[in-house]
Amino acid sequence: MSDKMYELAIIGAGPAGIAAAVECYLLGMRDIILIEKDENHNATIRKFYKDNKRVDKDWKGQKVDLDGNIYFIDGTKESTLDFFDEVIAKHSVELKTHTEVQKIQKNDDHFEVMITGGSIKAKHAVVTIGRMGKPNKPDYKIPSSIKKRVAYTLESCSLDEKVMVVGGGDSAIEYAVDLAHKNDVTICYRRENFRRANPTNQKDIAEALEREDVCAILGVNITALEEDNGKVKVVLDEGEAETYDRVIYAIGGTTPSAFLGSSGIEIEDGKPVHDENYMSNVEGLYVAGDITQESGGSIALGLNHGYAIANHILKV
Ligand SMILES: Cc1cc2nc3c(=O)[nH]c(=O)nc-3n(C[C@H](O)[C@H](O)[C@H](O)COP(=O)(O)OP(=O)(O)OC[C@H]3O[C@@H](n4cnc5c(N)ncnc54)[C@H](O)[C@@H]3O)c2cc1C
Repeated sequence: MSDKMYELAIIGAGPAGIAAAVECYLLGMRDIILIEKDENHNATIRKFYKDNKRVDKDWKGQKVDLDGNIYFIDGTKESTLDFFDEVIAKHSVELKTHTEVQKIQKNDDHFEVMITGGSIKAKHAVVTIGRMGKPNKPDYKIPSSIKKRVAYTLESCSLDEKVMVVGGGDSAIEYAVDLAHKNDVTICYRRENFRRANPTNQKDIAEALEREDVCAILGVNITALEEDNGKVKVVLDEGEAETYDRVIYAIGGTTPSAFLGSSGIEIEDGKPVHDENYMSNVEGLYVAGDITQESGGSIALGLNHGYAIANHILKV
């Protein structure tokens, strides 16, 4: 492993990580490395957004004025990924993919970013690993015989299946409405309505229910999944159990507490402790993006965090 000392190492190449890298570059910093465990940047967008998904700048109705230099606007999954491709290429940021960081260790005057088989040294470090590396899972056990039929993204879905989508937020609604074009879809949500979703998704799901493209089971909880001839039997706390070809959970993600804890970052109320500049309790080690948010941030928020961090590191 090289002994090179980077000015900045960023862990996680999602919107917040890319913004931290690019904004530091624009303020004159060089030797920036953006480390990503997946095969390319933005694994969350690639894996969890359905194809052609509409990407809203003001996601979930959170109105965000962009502070920095990355001009992000509404688009689609594909246009957003192309946009970030261009942003990275234009600013000569070194993107190191297929590299999972295990933890960050603080030495006297630098950080040692621990990866399989070695480490990368940097004077400053930013953790932007998001929450979707660990999507939320139900607390009941999923029998191993049906695990292949239970998923957290649309990757495994095919055609003409009977599918249950679990959840009632924006992601669940988008999954249900999209799958309904080619499948028989039921959405199951513990609340009585979809008021948490943004207005467009509320309208989309209302229309899909009206057309009977999607069926809804509201105000009930799933208590168990069981195998039924190789398929998934969904048992509810109220009403009849029903069997599906596939069950997709879209119930958010979890704070990567083990990673943060092993890097010395304190966690309070499920979020890493940080000051107004997104610096954690470890001097010179920053946190940004979704991991700093109670439940779900947004691309625009992540971009603003990256800008704030760049300004703080470079003392603008
Ligand atoms: C289905 C869905 C739809 C959404 N739609 C919208 C929308 O329309 N508009 C909007 O603004 N927001 C939307 N969001 C939210 C948005 O995607 C997130 O707020 C945003 O991606 C958060 O950016 P981030 O940089 O904090 O983390 P992420 O985008 O999650 O990026 C984290 C990156 O870190 C990498 N990583 C994780 N652990 C490690 C490790 N140990 N080592 C190295 N790399 C690691 C991951 O592979 C990933 O690439 C949506 C989210 C979902 C799930």
